Amino acid sequence: MPPLAGTAEAGGSLADFIWFRTGGAAEWLVRPRDMADLAQFLAALPPQMPVLPVGVGSNLIVRDGGVPGVVIRLPKAFAKVAVEPGNRIRAGGAAMGITVASAARDAGIAGLEFLRGIPGTVGGAVKMNAGAYGREAKDILVECTLVTREGVIEVWPLDRLRYSYRHSELPDGAVVVEALFEGAPGDPVVIGAEMDRIAAEREASQPLRSRTGGSTFKNPDGHKAWQLVDAAGCRGLRKGGAQVSEKHCNFLLNLGDATSADIEDLGDEVRARVKAQSGVDLQWEIARVGVRK
Ligand SMILES: Cc1cc2nc3c(=O)[nH]c(=O)nc-3n(C[C@H](O)[C@H](O)[C@H](O)COP(=O)(O)OP(=O)(O)OC[C@H]3O[C@@H](n4cnc5c(N)ncnc54)[C@H](O)[C@@H]3O)c2cc1C
Repeated sequence: MPPLAGTAEAGGSLADFIWFRTGGAAEWLVRPRDMADLAQFLAALPPQMPVLPVGVGSNLIVRDGGVPGVVIRLPKAFAKVAVEPGNRIRAGGAAMGITVASAARDAGIAGLEFLRGIPGTVGGAVKMNAGAYGREAKDILVECTLVTREGVIEVWPLDRLRYSYRHSELPDGAVVVEALFEGAPGDPVVIGAEMDRIAAEREASQPLRSRTGGSTFKNPDGHKAWQLVDAAGCRGLRKGGAQVSEKHCNFLLNLGDATSADIEDLGDEVRARVKAQSGVDLQWEIARVGVRK
């Protein structure tokens, strides 16, 4: 491993912190100290070594054989959030959506409320074009700062990410270290009420306290994925220790002893049943990484 001011852990556990709590270890789990440290490290890393950034794994299945190469996890130093003029918020890649939404509320900046309901980091939201309630990352992002796989620090304006539904053109191995968001002037009381409404609605409709990975499949044009899954009779379907949530059937659950293979195979079983029942090919929204055992 190239020199690093942060830490590089051989065989670092990912199951310790990703939402499903399943899957194998990272060959190397790297926590850089700051942006310059990350850039120097990546520049010196042999080009054939794969690099995977992760947030808190709220949209991730890590396969049971683990992740070859380097997994980058941004530590707290990357979680700063600051208000800037022009109804803007600058947030580190490791900041959680709820922290960004709360800072915007306190500063009287409207339009970022939806981040309250997305339990991931700024880096994950920028990569996935995370969204809810009719708004997505692309509606609030001005630019993001990333460190490329080659170790170059670049600022990418919104257009360069070429966003579509839950997708960006962020290059493989590039790490989002910061994002600049913009909203509109608003009343903190009204913004807070909207955040509370979102939190309550989520609590009522999603398995928030379970080991899950968020929405499993993208909503196909003109359809809701959960309705297709339900119509195919998959609500509550089980494989090993994994189950299709009874509460929201576009969510898969680890009931306690699931392997990542149980979860992924259950997802593939659901896709096959939906295809047979409705003819629709569901596409995974959850990122699946690493190798099978
Ligand atoms: C209960 C629940 C509800 C959810 N509701 C929603 C919702 O309403 N809308 C929605 O869009 N999503 C939702 N999700 C999914 C998930 O929270 C989002 O996709 C979130 O943006 C993922 O963030 P993360 O930091 O956990 O990323 P991870 O799951 O760790 O990673 C997801 C992807 O982003 C990449 N990535 C992570 N960090 C970085 C970084 N710093 N730089 C570059 N790439 C990075 C990873 O390589 C991976 O490809 C939900 C999940 C759960 C568990």
